[in-house]
Amino acid sequence: MESIGYGAVNARQPLAKLDFARREPRPDDVHIDILYCGVCHSDLHTARDEWGNTVYPVVPGHEIVGRVHSVGQQVTRFREGDLVGVGCMVDSCQQCASCKEGLEQYCEVGFVGTYNGEEMHSGGMSYGGYSNNIVVNEKFVLRIPENLPAAGAAPLLCAGITTFSPLRQWKVGKGHKVGIVGLGGLGHMGVKLAHAMGAHVVLFTTSSNKTEDARRLGADEVVLSKDADQMAAHQNSFDFILNTVAAPHDLDAFMVLLKRDGTMTLVGAPATPHPSPQVFNFIMKRRRLAGSLIGGIRETQEMLDFCGQHGIVSDIEMIPIQEINTAFERMLKSDVKYRFVIDMASLANEAQAVKGA
Ligand code: NAP
Ligand code: ZN
Repeated sequence: MESIGYGAVNARQPLAKLDFARREPRPDDVHIDILYCGVCHSDLHTARDEWGNTVYPVVPGHEIVGRVHSVGQQVTRFREGDLVGVGCMVDSCQQCASCKEGLEQYCEVGFVGTYNGEEMHSGGMSYGGYSNNIVVNEKFVLRIPENLPAAGAAPLLCAGITTFSPLRQWKVGKGHKVGIVGLGGLGHMGVKLAHAMGAHVVLFTTSSNKTEDARRLGADEVVLSKDADQMAAHQNSFDFILNTVAAPHDLDAFMVLLKRDGTMTLVGAPATPHPSPQVFNFIMKRRRLAGSLIGGIRETQEMLDFCGQHGIVSDIEMIPIQEINTAFERMLKSDVKYRFVIDMASLANEAQAVKGA
């Protein structure tokens, strides 16, 4: 199927308009016209091959919201016109223990990423949401609550589920003191979700100008993580810390803030490793350091429904697709409030302008 989008042809050049082919829809596929796509820091890591696994050309984007254009004959859960979402995965083996538990993100064969993934059936590469359309097996299509604004809901598909899943896994709720590290795309969703779950939320930031926003988003306290005195005041006090930082940093500064049996879970995925944390900080208080990867399809739907019930969406700055390279640069300066979302109408307008010229 013919598609247009914005993609990278190598690690050094900026993203540019790209014509490419997707697989033809199969009987169990949903063909979606994309309305909006969020801009995740993982898109930047991948476009620039920072994780060393990018196959070019790559069309990023895994926070996709759109309307169903058409469905294959075997599709039962969706019909033309439905408001739907696609997150970070478009396929998995469906046979292994993890898939059977609804944890497709930990598929033992390896899930197929929405972009830069090798398709299980065709063997071709998958292309993401910086594009006019996408074709996805119905098992990996999510339902967007109609009461949510569609553009603000797009970032829930990655930033939302990546923070919701560990908050649920570590049973965050009333009576818990929870830290969120970094107020970017993931972090601001973490603050909103942990607040909605009833926790006492403390936001750690390196940007002093984000304090007011953090409180508005649901943080009970804000700590400047570069200020040693502010950090010391919270020693041994957290049940759980969710760390979303996209760059290597000193983990010990946060480990010592956990109380006995507390856990810090890393979701940020920097290209180079963090300095190794001190073992003594773990053993003296039985503290734990963990990681977490997005969330399964069932849990992603639960998260979307939770956000529908609580009226939670991302705070977004809408951009035309032609501004994606500027958006990447601003993301590197932590200058995002708090997620860029691409309005895909800008892609159609560009295509039309070219035709008209
Ligand atoms: P983002 O919007 O760029 O936010 C990252 C935030 O980290 C920044 O806003 C900043 O917050 C803080 N930060 C950045 N550089 C820092 C530094 N040198 N030291 C301390 N803090 C720093 O990125 P995102 O889209 O939320 O993604 C965050 C990370 O999660 C990325 O590495 C991404 O690839 C990864 N990710 C992981 C998963 C998963 O499944 N585990 C899923 C999606 C994304 P302040 O200004 O508040 O300090
Ligand atoms: Zn993402």
